[in-house]
Amino acid sequence: MTTSLFPQHVIAKKRDGATLTKEEIFAFVRGATDGSWADYQLSALLMAIFLRGMSAEETAQYTDAMMHSGVVADLSSLRMAKVDKHSTGGVGDKISLHLAPMIAACGVAVPMISGRGLGHSGGTLDKLEAIPGFRVGLSLPEYRAQLEKIGLAMIGQTKELAPADKKLYALRDVTATVESIPLICGSILAKKLAEGIDALVLDVKFGRGAFMKDKAKARELASALISVTKAMNKPTRAVLTAMDQPLGKAVGNGLEVIESIDCLRGGGPGDTMEVTYALGEQMLLLSHAAASMEEAREKLRKSIVSGAALEKFKQMILAQGGDARVVDDTNRLPRARLTTVLKSPRAGFVTDVDAMGVALAALRLGAGRARAEDRIDPAVGVSDLVKVGQSVGAGEPLCVVHANDENAQADAIQGLKNAISVGEERLSSPKLIEEIIG
Ligand code: URA
Repeated sequence: MTTSLFPQHVIAKKRDGATLTKEEIFAFVRGATDGSWADYQLSALLMAIFLRGMSAEETAQYTDAMMHSGVVADLSSLRMAKVDKHSTGGVGDKISLHLAPMIAACGVAVPMISGRGLGHSGGTLDKLEAIPGFRVGLSLPEYRAQLEKIGLAMIGQTKELAPADKKLYALRDVTATVESIPLICGSILAKKLAEGIDALVLDVKFGRGAFMKDKAKARELASALISVTKAMNKPTRAVLTAMDQPLGKAVGNGLEVIESIDCLRGGGPGDTMEVTYALGEQMLLLSHAAASMEEAREKLRKSIVSGAALEKFKQMILAQGGDARVVDDTNRLPRARLTTVLKSPRAGFVTDVDAMGVALAALRLGAGRARAEDRIDPAVGVSDLVKVGQSVGAGEPLCVVHANDENAQADAIQGLKNAISVGEERLSSPKLIEEIIG
């Protein structure tokens, strides 16, 4: 190791605001992967990056180093175009569950590697695991074989893909360095680009229920993600979407699977389908499966009307060991013991459904994790949620609470009463798609 690559020298350089070289960035990421840098040295550099930032070039090099810290899946034998979607996370965001089969039904492969929920936002893997028997832990050869066969696989992070992120994310989590744009770019993109995709669509959310509360900050993140993917020659587009009220009418793992099945049957809630189509259009455009937004929308619509997308979803469940009969009989999904209807105390219009308040109620019921090792209850959550602008009569339902524990049920109901407001004013439905970047 040349002395300039000693951890203390790299840390000092970034601490003083200088730009790191590619070799220094790769030494840092290698140090995280092989354990040659101590945790305190990794943490010190993370904090220096958090405070001093990184240039666009450093961020691209950091992403490249993170992506190559493990295996980059080789899907070149797959003849179809390969595209994926990533959401920065929201409340009730079940879009991957039905969008991935819609895209696969349009003839474009979706190799999707997803995460688990942590904190207030849910994770795609937890939702899929609400389906009895569904295996998210496929090996890379199994993942490749399934993609060859049905053009769709939704699995969890494997040990081989971007291992440096596991180490660095855990350190960021406990050193107050998560909210750094270059570090977030490296973390998200290293994992997605290691999947072996040709193109990527990012759903960058902003608002009370999102990781980025502020629109300007979310736009900054989206632009940074796009500039890194440009530098890495990976066609990518970011869709900036609002996350102030939950997406759709269900929050909770099994309940969201039911809602996604509704979407695949053509009955999905308007807001969920609006975001689904916006993301799906970009996925088909980037993978050259459609030449215009209109053509893309028509293909997506047909995938639902023809039943092809629903059939793809069934094929994927079967291929991953799950009970595909849930698609035709959602009673086969886990059911909560206690259901209560929360009623409106007055007549009027729904003026607010606070996504964070609903998420915390769902978390209290056991739908999410406060700590990484917590167990999830797939049956619990909130369904039939009203939407902003909707009119309600006194005593009419605001939502249904699904619980397996009386105390949690009482706390969640109190939280939901605070989260949902009914007033005199009829607000129009909030704008969902803010901007498309890239
Ligand atoms: N999601 C990730 O995977 N990484 C981050 O750094 C933030 C959100």
